[in-house]
Amino acid sequence: MKSQWDDRTAATLRDAVDERVYSSRLLGADSMLVLHGGGNTSVKVRERNIFGDEEEILYVKGSGWDLETIERAGFAPVRLQALLRLSTLRELPDDRMALELRKALTTPSAPDPSVEAILHALIPHRFVDHTHADAVLTVMNTPSGGARIREIYGDTVLVVPYVMPGFKLARECKARLDEGELAGKRGMILMSHGVFSFADSAKESYERMIDLVDAAESYLRSRAAWTVAWEAGKPSPGASSLETCAFRRELSRMAGAPMIVATHTDPQARGFASRPDLETISQQGPATPDHVLRTKRVPLVGGDLRAYAARYEAYFRENAARIARKLTMLDPAPRVILDAGVGMRTCGTTAREARIVEHLYRHTMDLIVRATSLEAYRALQAGDLFDVEYWVLEQAKLGGKKAGKPFQGEIALVTGAASGIGRACAEKLLACGACVVALDRSQAVTELIASPEFLGIRCDVTHRDEVASALDQGIEAFGGLDIAVLNAGIFPESRPIESLSEETWEAAMRVNLDANFSLMRQVHRYLRLAPNGGRAIVVGSKNVRAPGPGAAAYSVSKAALTQLARVAALEWGADGVRVNVVHPNAVFDTGIWTAGIVEERAKSYGMTPDQYKRSNVLKTEITSGDVAAVILDLCGEAFRKVTGAQVPIDGGNERVI
Ligand code: ZN
Repeated sequence: MKSQWDDRTAATLRDAVDERVYSSRLLGADSMLVLHGGGNTSVKVRERNIFGDEEEILYVKGSGWDLETIERAGFAPVRLQALLRLSTLRELPDDRMALELRKALTTPSAPDPSVEAILHALIPHRFVDHTHADAVLTVMNTPSGGARIREIYGDTVLVVPYVMPGFKLARECKARLDEGELAGKRGMILMSHGVFSFADSAKESYERMIDLVDAAESYLRSRAAWTVAWEAGKPSPGASSLETCAFRRELSRMAGAPMIVATHTDPQARGFASRPDLETISQQGPATPDHVLRTKRVPLVGGDLRAYAARYEAYFRENAARIARKLTMLDPAPRVILDAGVGMRTCGTTAREARIVEHLYRHTMDLIVRATSLEAYRALQAGDLFDVEYWVLEQAKLGGKKAGKPFQGEIALVTGAASGIGRACAEKLLACGACVVALDRSQAVTELIASPEFLGIRCDVTHRDEVASALDQGIEAFGGLDIAVLNAGIFPESRPIESLSEETWEAAMRVNLDANFSLMRQVHRYLRLAPNGGRAIVVGSKNVRAPGPGAAAYSVSKAALTQLARVAALEWGADGVRVNVVHPNAVFDTGIWTAGIVEERAKSYGMTPDQYKRSNVLKTEITSGDVAAVILDLCGEAFRKVTGAQVPIDGGNERVI
């Protein structure tokens, strides 16, 4: 562990708060120090208020901000005197504390101050840094962790036994600070939780943190307990896509909402999941109490979800009984699953959340292995973790929880997704909370959208094997398939029947009809396992009901595709899978229409391009986004009892009406 402090960068910083931002980001950038929202930092500065009085203000990390990306606005300015006064109270329930912290802000729009704000205020130094560094947690999370910490740090740090974070921890530390126990110390170790450093300059406080963590790392190295080697091992049979979908369906039912389930089969995931001591080492608890909110207390080992839920309910009942407040049980579904035959699965209501769980648990796996090779891995007892999981402020969040986005936790497949209607569908589905597996012949699809919820795969839908492989990749990334938008299609050059080549005819049938037939055959078994019922949307054409001369191949292929969708609606209804068709017309912002073609067509009808684009009953232009909006509605709540429908999206076409 080395300092990343750069004096030249630091010299450009305006003031102490900027320095605070800079060194907070240095901490946040190293996942061995800080993970996803973990850790917090502060600085004390003097400011003049509107009356001209000088006040001491604590700028402390605001909740909802990550140290890695924090900005000035991420620090909540709290009046120091108010915090110190709060620390003299004998008792302060944490929900009341949160309210008092807000009242002490100098800026009403600031984020909620960290729950450790009072503790930061109590530490007399200007800069205070707090992390849950892996190396320190590894050493302390062993049976003789306390002795080892003393062995490493001697009396250069203050060691505080575990106390629930929040006001209780602040009170515990205040008692020790009042006794002068912090004098001459360069840090503070909170057992089973993390580490604090402090100093009067940003650089010194940061570098003390690095030194403290480096000392633990060196200790582990010297005892051959640092390097973790994950061997590839022999490949396990793995789970089939169908097994993954079935697993996700049961897990989603348990969680009460569709969930994203990411499957990991790399050497670390498989190596850890197939350790002979897995049952023991994985069931101790998380490395630091914070993680319990994301990963739950323990992972599921194997595949028995029901048994896990029963154990979770027992844990809840047992611990809720000793708490006076009325508690609402969280869903009993696991967030981490370790299965020797599969590897690791991580779950969340979004792909982003599942990825955070993955990162946390990857660090935990290394940490457990290191602690095991040092001595043995120990975590906090269940009751202490329960108190964090069911902390009053976390419970309050449940009450005020906003309804999620309409497709949150669902997974949609979109073909022909690199442009036009397909791309508009992918973008709208993402905006509405879905994960999107986007297929296209164009390589551009792989880099279309940078998001953990998006997986772009180059795929020719006329090749069955490419489609099968893309579906497997999508299911490995997200866990299932809820929605399929069958959009990919071609519009061959206009020709009268007598001069229409057989190649053109066959190409239209191959892409517009055969490929969709093959795709439907392949997706049905996954769609029927969608937790809220599968949905397929077929993109037809106005030409189905109002064909145009010269478009025989196109019109016939789309008409046959529509008929296929109608039969699918009949056959798949019993599985709860809905199949509906949209018939767009004259969508000019797709790849097919260039400005030149529009102009040429308009001229042949004696219209301007604008008149031509609006030549429908409503005199309105239809965009890809308009079509995508109809497709999303058809997949949504309002149409949950509709199947086999055909919806025109064409501004009104006289021949269709
Ligand atoms: Zn902490």
